[in-house]
Amino acid sequence: MTNRQPRPACATAGVDMYPAPSDDLGTARAVAVCDTCQIRQACADGALARREQWGVWGGLTETRRRSMFRHNRVPAHIVRAPSPAMIRREEVARLAGKRVPTEAIAARLGVTVDLVCRDLQRLRSDRQAEKQQEPAGTVAA
Ligand code: SF4
Repeated sequence: MTNRQPRPACATAGVDMYPAPSDDLGTARAVAVCDTCQIRQACADGALARREQWGVWGGLTETRRRSMFRHNRVPAHIVRAPSPAMIRREEVARLAGKRVPTEAIAARLGVTVDLVCRDLQRLRSDRQAEKQQEPAGTVAA
């Protein structure tokens, strides 16, 4: 009788599991590897629980994971308290939406202007990526 542990498919696939979000082909290749993996669900759950920022895990791209958090589509058993970075980004988004200047946001949150700029950049790229993933004909709410 054998007692073999399931092996991560990415361990031997020779595929980059950290493609740039803009690399559609690389992302499709990484997701295809996950499609063949025996531990896909556990891997996806773990990535969501750890809030992995980069890479494809359990077939979920980083854009998809962010979208799941943003739209409250993460299974309840995985959801944890939001990270300090997520709380800050949400606050940056809220203040920027009220047209508060970047310097004022930084001063209010006690962080550097550079960090606020990076948060704003990431929020923009997240929104752009989400728009690209919406199926054709989807009407924004
Ligand atoms: S599901 Fe996880 S362990 Fe399996 S191939 Fe994908 S990233 Fe690797």
